[in-house]
Formats: sequence, structure tokens, C-alpha cells
Amino acid sequence: MKYLVKTFGCQMNEHDSEILAGMMEQIGYEQVERPEDADAIIINTCCVRESAENRIIGYIGNLKKLKEQNPGLIITVSGCMLQQPGAAEKLIKRAPFVDLVLGTHNIHRLPQLISERQGGNESLIEVAETEGDIQEELPVKRQGNIKAQVTIMYGCNNFCSYCIVPFVRGRERSRKPEAIEKEIKCLGAEGFKEVLLLGQNVNSYGLDFTEAFDFADLLERVDRNPDIERIRYMTSHPRDFTQKLVDTISKSQKVCEHFHLPIQAGSNRILKQMNRGYSREMYFELVESIREKVPKASITTDIIVGFPGETDDDFADTLDVIKRVRFDAAYTFLYSRRSGTPAAKMSEQVPAEEKKRRLQILMDLENSISREINEKLVGTREEVLVEGTSKTKDIMFSGRTRTNKIVIFPGNESMIGKLVNVNIMSAKTWHLEGQIIK
Ligand code: SF4
Repeated sequence: MKYLVKTFGCQMNEHDSEILAGMMEQIGYEQVERPEDADAIIINTCCVRESAENRIIGYIGNLKKLKEQNPGLIITVSGCMLQQPGAAEKLIKRAPFVDLVLGTHNIHRLPQLISERQGGNESLIEVAETEGDIQEELPVKRQGNIKAQVTIMYGCNNFCSYCIVPFVRGRERSRKPEAIEKEIKCLGAEGFKEVLLLGQNVNSYGLDFTEAFDFADLLERVDRNPDIERIRYMTSHPRDFTQKLVDTISKSQKVCEHFHLPIQAGSNRILKQMNRGYSREMYFELVESIREKVPKASITTDIIVGFPGETDDDFADTLDVIKRVRFDAAYTFLYSRRSGTPAAKMSEQVPAEEKKRRLQILMDLENSISREINEKLVGTREEVLVEGTSKTKDIMFSGRTRTNKIVIFPGNESMIGKLVNVNIMSAKTWHLEGQIIK
């Protein structure tokens, strides 16, 4: 029997898909690439943007023909999209050929439900409204064997006014440090070199424990693992990034010098409307402290352009933050109305054309800064974890620095998965090029 998992959305979803794949392999299925070769198709959905939902509905609609040709095909739809009130019932009405519907808190039930469905039951829907206990020891089929994602917590308590995540992923629940350490120990023994600790807001890890144990304490413990070479984490919330955490990272051996700090907007008025819980001044202080304690740090961010009510002055504040902080890179998004969130009901939505105009100005500014920062690295020596062949130049190899910059260089297959030193010879906006130091 063959299966395929199609993933939409963020890194948390990608990792959930690794668990879905792990469970399918545990019950004897083999992975395939094409839907037409599969006996079971699982669509792991996202609902962060309405455009993503439309693409998912289109993808599911295209499977109708396959189901007609192969009535034994089991189609499962799981994840965030179904967690919205009434969404599961609406989906079954629209696509009655879907066999199983699973919410974000129910994915561990996949093997059981597949077996029930094979036993002839009608379409099954399991969408728990509230989060249950954390399920440990689920099988995981990882993508690749160099870098591994490890979920350290689930859910989010923040309710940023544009975001649907807290409504579909539930409240924050942290995994016990012992369970995380055990998983990372196994990854190290299997030869993985890098772990990415995942959570919607990793900086509030442990706040739900009765004993005092926070994210900095967790990093300190993971840092002691002798087999893992690099530790990364995502996503950070600037409001919860403590001085203790900066100090811990500055003293650690393996936690990489890359800080991804989504600022989202540069105007205090808009930050308040977004319910982000910090001001631009607090953000500047955090950046200053990071630069003082970790001088080699790279700092990247996420920015939303055109949040409701964003004026020219608010937008100028965002540009000002970019000039003052000088981010290594910024991931920029046009604000997109997400029904079910407070921001969707706000008046003064910014016209689409204006949002696009502002986005272009912002990207032009950020690209020139990224390039200038990268050019300063020409002539330096960087430690690179080799990940594989380059996507753009197939005779070249590619890897990342500790600061998360992509480096392209001539190499050979035997280097994949190893740490090498590279002389940086030239810089582009999005990557560096160099030669390995033998
Ligand atoms: S911190 Fe804000 S943006 Fe991030 S998941 Fe939570 S509510 Fe959404």
C-alpha cells in the first residue's frame, strides 16, 4: 500500500506531516510522490491566509476524479483549516468523497481511523475543540538526515489581532524537557547535525510548568548534547525574549548566532493595534543587547505591510526601523484579511494597490541593506554545514553559516552533512559564494 502527504503552511505543519508520514509507515504504507500512485492521500492544511485555503480546496477538488477511478483510495484532510467552527462539516458537504477529517489535536488517531474507514464506516470526522494531553513517542519520518525539527511546545496564548493560530492550535502546552532531550539524543545517535526547536512562540516555553524551567534552561541542556553541532529555534516573540535568554545564547557553544525576531510593524500605534505587546523602543533595546552580547549575530525579521489603518507616517516608521536595525533579511507579507480575527473587522483596510506600492519600497530598501551586509563578509572565513547540491547551480554545493546565510561553493558528495570552512569570495543579496579551505 502506498501513501502521499501533501503539506500546506508553516514549519509546524511540515513537522506534523513528518509525524503523519511516520504513522503511515508504521502501519505498513510506503511513500510515493504522485497522487495517482497512492492508496491513501493525506492533505495537511493551513488557514493562516484565505488564499491558502482556496488553493487547498482546489487541490482537494482535483482528487475527485482519482477517487472515482479508485474507490478504495482513502482521502484524509487534516490540520488547521478544519479546526475553524463548522469547517469540517462544510468540507464534507462540498467534497463528500473525502473519507477522514482530522483536527490539529487529533492527528495521532490517523492509523485507527484509517482502519475503521477500511472496515466500511462512512466519512469520519474527528475534530477536538480543546487540546488534549501531548502525545509523546509518535513515529516520525524525517525529511533528510542532516537537520531535524523538534517540536518543544504547542499552541499560542498571544492573540495577535491578525492571526488565526491561537484559535486553531489552542493554548500553549510545553513538552517536558526530558522528552525533548530524549528525542534529540536519538537524533544525535542517528547522525543528525542540527536541530530546529519549534513552537509558535518558543520564548514562552515552560511558562505552563509548575516548576521554574524556561526556554533558556532548555537551550542550556540541549547545548550539552555531544552529537548535535548546531541548535536553532523558531519562532521568537520579541516581547518574551529575555535578557537571560540573550546571555544563555551568548555563552552556548551550539546555539547559532541567528536571531529571527518578527517585528511586524515599526509604528507603535500599529503594534498596539496588532496586540504585539512591545514598542519599537523595546525592540531597539533588545537588538542592542543582542549586538552587545553576540557581536557576530545576524538578525532577521517578518514584516506585515498594509495592516488596517496603516498611514504613510506609520509606514515611514517601519522603513525607519529597517534603516536603524539593518536586518540581514526581512520576510515581508502583504496584510491579508483573515476572517475570524479581530483585524478582519477593523475599518480602514488599506487598498490593495497601496499595499503593493509600500511593499515594493520596503523590499527595495531591505534588499540593498542585505546586499551591503553580505558584501562585508567577503574575505572572511565561515563555518558551513553542507546540505546538498545547490538548487541554482547544479555542479555546486550549498550549505548554511551559523548565522543562517546560504553559501554556494565547489565541493563533492562526501562533504554533505559535514561542517567545512569556506572563504567567502563574493556576495549576492540572498547568498554568498566561496571556496572551501582545505
Ligand atoms: S505569536 Fe501572534 S502571530 Fe505568532 S502564532 Fe501567536 S498569535 Fe499568531
